Amino acid sequence: MITLYTSGHEEHQILAEVWRLFFGRAVLCETGDGVLVHEQDASPAISIESALAGNRISTTVRASGAESRSLSEPCAYKDRRRVLKRQLYHALEQVTGIRFPWGSLTGVRPTQMADSILKTAGSPETAIHAMVQDWRVSPAKARLAMETNDAEQAILKRLPAAAYAVYVGIPFCPSRCLYCSFTSRDAGRDPSLLLRYADAVAEELAACYSGPDYGTPVAVYVGGGTPTTLADDAFDRLLGRLSGMVGGQPEVTVEAGRPETITNEKLRILQSHGISRICINPQTMNRETLPKLNRLHDTDDVIRVFHEARQHGMTDINMDLIAGLTDETPADFLFSVDALIRLNPEKITLHALARKAGSFLSDQDGKNSIYRPLPAWIDAFQTAQDRLRAAGYFPYYLYRQKYAHAGLENIGFARPGHETVYNVAMMSDRVHVLGFGAGASTKFIVNTRANRLHNPKDVRLYLEQAGQLGQSKVSAASKFL
Ligand code: SF4
Repeated sequence: MITLYTSGHEEHQILAEVWRLFFGRAVLCETGDGVLVHEQDASPAISIESALAGNRISTTVRASGAESRSLSEPCAYKDRRRVLKRQLYHALEQVTGIRFPWGSLTGVRPTQMADSILKTAGSPETAIHAMVQDWRVSPAKARLAMETNDAEQAILKRLPAAAYAVYVGIPFCPSRCLYCSFTSRDAGRDPSLLLRYADAVAEELAACYSGPDYGTPVAVYVGGGTPTTLADDAFDRLLGRLSGMVGGQPEVTVEAGRPETITNEKLRILQSHGISRICINPQTMNRETLPKLNRLHDTDDVIRVFHEARQHGMTDINMDLIAGLTDETPADFLFSVDALIRLNPEKITLHALARKAGSFLSDQDGKNSIYRPLPAWIDAFQTAQDRLRAAGYFPYYLYRQKYAHAGLENIGFARPGHETVYNVAMMSDRVHVLGFGAGASTKFIVNTRANRLHNPKDVRLYLEQAGQLGQSKVSAASKFL
């Protein structure tokens, strides 16, 4: 049994994030003054004490009462949570022998951490060393974070001072993928709803753009869901209204994720609006996996629509893959990577499957603990990245999700000059984002602090409130811009 005790603080929820990494779930102690407990066969019993006294934080591991190791360091009050988590991670790594590729980093973007360490470390090499030593990040991941941070910063530096981005969410898909945790709805259930929805987004846009100057639109992303699920005329109308309202010359990307929704007519409409950047997301190029995910297309469809998209002037195509899909092996994943490299899109994004609440594959009870580090998958993910680099792609944005397969990351690779500005801007907390549609979020950045507004996720509620939601952005702009 492993038990965590705390003294001088009550940051149990924060420590539970680290506990869950190792044990899948955090179980509260029902007896004694311990806080979290993990039952296992191993003896002797181990106790860990996490203590805050004055300005010093200590974490001590004891096996059957005998002190084995203690970490102790001075800490400013504002940094206490970070240090408590980091020390507990060190202790659990020592106790379990488990080491995660991203070490103790939870709840923080690796590139954000890399950027902040770099500012004090002075050189990339010193910063990489600090990430490895202090945060137990593997050397390969520390280098990846540093390199991707360079690419992200280069993109952000190019943006004008008053830059903002636009997101439009279309939460409908032809069927629900088993791993999906978004608020997407099955489009076939009520086709008339899609038409009303497209009109409601147009209403929200019109209300939002009824007065204020939001700055310079640098990126527009039409995502979801699968926007190409909309009927042709609704899709055409929405894209027309969007470009009419937003204006300027932003980068515009449309998620055409599900190949079965990409028709020649949809491609023609995109082309007629001057749009040449789309996402076609196979997720896997292994034919037998797709039905297991409740996806309705075949791998041949992916190849066919890719070539059709090229013929319709889509000169910037991103394609997503997911590592850890049902019954797939690391070799299957690498097969998909090689298949996409042969197709030669401008961008390939690698995701680690995240089993989130709300998906049919959720695993929050930790029984399977697929997010434990799995060496074969960690090696395959590295090999995939090596192959992408060898094919001329480089990493340009990076984020992580809870419960990600093997503790891995999501990482976008692009050919030079084809990075999607929206992906970097949206996560940076340096650029305002106007969000439209059900479940979309808006944020106004004031001194690096994000002030957020959230649209309701429920589609019917959204239909009722669309105009009002557009107005609320006008009010927020007068307060924050
Ligand atoms: S295509 Fe994307 S949004 Fe739609 S059901 Fe699948 S995972 Fe969810």
